[in-house]
Amino acid sequence: MGVEEEQIVMPGDKLGIVEQYVPGNGTYDDDGEIKSSVLGNVKINQKNKVISVDSKLESPALLKKGDIVYGQITDIKSQRANVNIDCIKDNPRPLALPYMGAIHISQAKKDYLEKLSDAFRIGDIVQAKVVKITGDNIDLSTVDKECGVLKAMCTRCRDYMHTTKKKDEVKCNACNRKERRKISINYVNG
Ligand SMILES: [Zn+2]
Repeated sequence: MGVEEEQIVMPGDKLGIVEQYVPGNGTYDDDGEIKSSVLGNVKINQKNKVISVDSKLESPALLKKGDIVYGQITDIKSQRANVNIDCIKDNPRPLALPYMGAIHISQAKKDYLEKLSDAFRIGDIVQAKVVKITGDNIDLSTVDKECGVLKAMCTRCRDYMHTTKKKDEVKCNACNRKERRKISINYVNG
């Protein structure tokens, strides 16, 4: 069993296991199984044991567990913040679908968070990690230090905010209002 050189595969098709091959371009490691992330032809480098899939089309990107994504906060409920996912980090291809993700209050930051509005506000640009995909539900986490708010929007005047010397505090460029956020170490000031 297994795929053959030049065989046409679809996104999600199983190509082999990590004990057999090194996952190359157009593939991903799904808990030890190598799967295709694109529609294309299988290429097997027997010398290096690298399996890859050459995309015939400029196929759109599909989200998978572990991806780092950029998006904008669209809504905040008591338990979850909704994120409109714009793109995948280091992946120039557009997303196949307009994905909506959600950050559960327990996945926002390491420390206890009393309310989600102390971490995010509507309009904020965030970096987040995909932790789980169940059907149409995409669970995101911002616990890692690279993840969190990249650009915060002032709730009073909608202007962007800059970080202050205090941890997880931002201050409005226009009206000087101070607010709290879960700030990424990649926060964009100015
Ligand atoms: Zn303001």
